Amino acid sequence: MNIALLLEMAAETAPDRVALVCDGRRWTYGDLIAAARGAFELIRQSKADYVALLDESSEAAVIAVFGAALAGVPYCPLNYRLPDADLAALLGRVAPALVIGDEERILRVAADQGHTVFSREEFVLKAQETVPADEAREYDPGEGIAIQLFTSGTTAAPKAAILRHSNLLGYILGTVEFGSADEADAALVVVPPYHIAGISALLSSIYALRKIVMLPAFSPEGWLSLVAAETVTNAFVVPTMLARIIDAMEKGASGDVSSLRAIAYGGGKMPIEVIQKALARFPEAGFTNAYGLTETSSTIALLGPEDHREALASPDPQVRARLTSLGKPIPTVEIEIRGENGEVLGPGEPGEIYVRGEQVSGEYKEKSALDAEGWFPTRDAGFIDEHGYLFLSGRADDVIVRGGENMSPGEIEDVLLTHPAIADACACAIPSVEWGETVGVALVTREGHASPCATELKDLVRARLRSSRVPEKVVFVAELPYNEMGKLLRRKVKEVLAD
Ligand code: ATP
Repeated sequence: MNIALLLEMAAETAPDRVALVCDGRRWTYGDLIAAARGAFELIRQSKADYVALLDESSEAAVIAVFGAALAGVPYCPLNYRLPDADLAALLGRVAPALVIGDEERILRVAADQGHTVFSREEFVLKAQETVPADEAREYDPGEGIAIQLFTSGTTAAPKAAILRHSNLLGYILGTVEFGSADEADAALVVVPPYHIAGISALLSSIYALRKIVMLPAFSPEGWLSLVAAETVTNAFVVPTMLARIIDAMEKGASGDVSSLRAIAYGGGKMPIEVIQKALARFPEAGFTNAYGLTETSSTIALLGPEDHREALASPDPQVRARLTSLGKPIPTVEIEIRGENGEVLGPGEPGEIYVRGEQVSGEYKEKSALDAEGWFPTRDAGFIDEHGYLFLSGRADDVIVRGGENMSPGEIEDVLLTHPAIADACACAIPSVEWGETVGVALVTREGHASPCATELKDLVRARLRSSRVPEKVVFVAELPYNEMGKLLRRKVKEVLAD
C-alpha cells in the first residue's frame, strides 16, 4: 500500500498518454514514472527524513510527491508565501529535509538550517537524469506517512496533519475508478500544492488516467484561456476564484469554456449569488460542492450536479436551500452531529460535525484527535436535515457565546449582506465585561455606495434576528483578510475588532 502504486499502474497501462501539462511542457505517464524513480534515488542518497516543497504548483511538485512515496519518506509541501521567520519555523518542524524551492530567499532560509537544497529546475533535471541503483523498491506496508500537511491556520496556528498511505488510498480507491477517464479528459489544477485539494486532484486524476493541466498562479484570464487552449473538462476552484472568473466574464473576458463538463468547488463557504451566477454562466457543466478537511484526506460530503439543478429549479424553499448545503456524506465515510456532551443529535439539531472512515487520519505530528471508535471531531458546527443533507453553520471555534447563548457568525453576516451597500462582512466575538463575549462586525462597503450608519445596520439585524445578535461594535475596513485559498482569516479580524 503506497500512493506511488497509483502512478506505477497508470504508467504501466498507458505509458504514452499525456499525464501532465505545465508551463507549456507535456509529460507522458512514462516520463513521469521515470522522473519519480530518479527522484527516489536522489532522496535516498540525501538520507533526508522529509522531502519539503517550497514552490508553487510545478512539475517538481508532482515528481517530488511520488519520489518521496517510493523512498518511504514523508512529503511535506509548505506555504512558500510565508515570511522568512515563519518559513524557518515550519522547516525546523520537518528536519532534516531535502528541500525543493523556487525563490532564492527560500533556498537561503533552508540552506541556513542545514537542509539539502535543490532549485526547482535542478531537481527536475537531476530526477530525469538519475537512474536508481537498484530497481527493487520496498513499498511501505500502508501505515507509513505519505504526506505531512500544515492546515491553513484559519482558526489557530497551523497544525501538522499526518496523512498515511492507507488514508489517501482509502479515499482514492473508494471514490475513483481506475482508468475511468477518456483520453480527451483534462483536469485543471489551480490550488497551491500545499493544500489537500491540490493533492487529491493530482492523485485522483492519475488513477483515472486523466491529463492534469497546471496553472501555477491564478488569474481569471489565465484560467479562461487555459480552459480553452487545453479543452479542459474538469476543474476545481475555491469560491473566491469562481467569483473572480464570473466577474471577469461579466466584464468581457472571453475564452471557449464549452469543454467544461464538471466544476467542483469547496474549501470555504460559497456565496449563494456566486453559485447561482455560475450555474447560469456554465449551463453545460455539472457543479459539485465538495466539503472536506486536510485531516480527512479531502472530500467527505458532496452536493452533486443533480442536486444543484433540482435546487435551482424548485419552487419549494426547503429544496432551494440545498444550494447552500454540503450535500450528503460520500459512501465511504460516516458523518454524525454531536452535542456538547458527545451525544449523537437528531435531524435539524445543531452541533459539531464528526466523521469516521478509512480516509480520516485525524492525526497530528504530536497526537491523534480520533476517539476510541475512530471518530474525528471536525470543529465545524452544523446540522443534518431530515432528508440527510449536511449544513455548515461555521467553525465551532468561531461561535460567539454571549452570556451563555451560542450564536454563529454566519447568521449575522448573512443578514448584513442583504444591505445593498455591504459587499463583505465578518462577525466575531469581542470581549465584554457584562456578557463575557458579544458581537463585533467588520464590514466592507460596496463600490459606489456610502457606508451606512451603524444604527441602520443594527436595526437591520434586530428586525431579522434575536436582539442578542445585534452587533455592539461596527467597523468599516477597506477589505477583509483572506488567505490564498479564499479562507477568511477571522483571527486577524478579531485583532482589528479588539483594538
Ligand atoms: P486550521 O484548522 O488551521 O484553522 P483549516 O481548517 O482552515 O485550518 P483546512 O483543512 O484547509 O484548514 O480547511 C478545512 C475547513 O474548510 C473545514 O473544516 C471547513 O470549515 C472549510 N470547508 C472545506 N470545504 C468547505 C465547503 N465545501 N464549504 C464550506 N466550508 C468548507
